[in-house]
Amino acid sequence: MVVSTYYPARAVVDLAAIRSNVRALVGCARPNADRTTQVMAVVKADAYGHGLLPSARAAVEGGATWLGTAQVSEALELRAAGVSVRLLTWLYAPGAPIDALLLADIDVSVAAPWALAEVVAAARSTGRTARIHVKVDTGLGRNGLEIDDLPAFLRDAVAAQTDGLLEVVGIWSHFAFADEPAHPTVLAQVDVFDRAVRLAEDAGAHLEVRHLANSAATLTSPRAHYDLVRPGLAVYGLSPVPQIGGPEEFGLVPAMTLEASLATVKRVPGGRGVSYAHAYTTPSDTVLGVVPIGYADGLPRHASGHLPEHPGGPVRVGAGAAARTLAVAGRVCMDQVVVDLGPGAAEQAGDPVVLFGTGADGGPTAEDWAQAAGTISYEITTRLGARVPRHHVDTETAR
Ligand SMILES: *Cc1c(COP(=O)(O)O)cnc(C)c1O
Repeated sequence: MVVSTYYPARAVVDLAAIRSNVRALVGCARPNADRTTQVMAVVKADAYGHGLLPSARAAVEGGATWLGTAQVSEALELRAAGVSVRLLTWLYAPGAPIDALLLADIDVSVAAPWALAEVVAAARSTGRTARIHVKVDTGLGRNGLEIDDLPAFLRDAVAAQTDGLLEVVGIWSHFAFADEPAHPTVLAQVDVFDRAVRLAEDAGAHLEVRHLANSAATLTSPRAHYDLVRPGLAVYGLSPVPQIGGPEEFGLVPAMTLEASLATVKRVPGGRGVSYAHAYTTPSDTVLGVVPIGYADGLPRHASGHLPEHPGGPVRVGAGAAARTLAVAGRVCMDQVVVDLGPGAAEQAGDPVVLFGTGADGGPTAEDWAQAAGTISYEITTRLGARVPRHHVDTETAR
């Protein structure tokens, strides 16, 4: 039986871009020699769709001394692959394999009393001393301990620390409005965070890292940097604050380029309904191009193009000086989209298509797709379908 890995689309991920983005973030966290703030590259969700292991290794080469994942399985995968930097994982329900985390020397977030009990039990059964980061809800209204519940929690945690079962090495929290740096909740959360840190230190914790900043706060709120920053999106070169500035404003380069090739190019008359429900109708005689990538690959169906006046997600067709940025015409389908190439089109089947990339040549970006779909660029790269092959390249070493 013949099997093939052939696929008519691919996500090309430039590891040099990830390295250089992390260098920029290190520079932002440590603007001078007085500052010792470290960078934790957040590589959850398969490194925001970029491929967990290659992205994680590139981030470490760029200067990340910590890596963070929401999912326990991803932290374990990193360690099993030989990644040796500090790892933190933070999202699990009762019954998670805390034993495995301790045996793999992975730092564990604790956000509730039941989690403390499970960590203590795992420390007893493995004979390892757990390193825990206490997650405090400073105002996000999501995971973490309420500040009023912190003193009682800390008493229990420090008692377990005295017994040698764990060390409270971190206090951490997450912002609700980091992407609006002037929002009053930002400094309000910093205040609550400072109170949480004092409570922990007064209770007997020897804190190694206090951390609060995601990408947006790393780039825009130095007051929130503390000992460690936790950028995710910016590691991959996308701006968490597009209303303030694009990637280039912050020295970032988008790492992922989503490419395909034209599958069909054909001439059709005016008035032709295009794709499901004929959401788009050709205004006159024209040439249609079919791009073999659709919502099963992660293109949002909300970026469909309706009628000629409401273009869908952007599509760069052709290469070099002949390249043109057009828009999805009609519905985004499961496996394909259609582009109206216009009556004078010279393109042919097989010609290159870029859905999004660095934007350097004026081509479309993940942010453009986010805007076309009414979402955020986070969702564009993380939802990229598992069936789209990731090709990792390195423009620094591959010369
Ligand atoms: C995802 C996540 C981050 C990274 O957020 P970005 O906005 O992508 O920088 C940081 N901290 C926590 C707790 C997260 O869940």
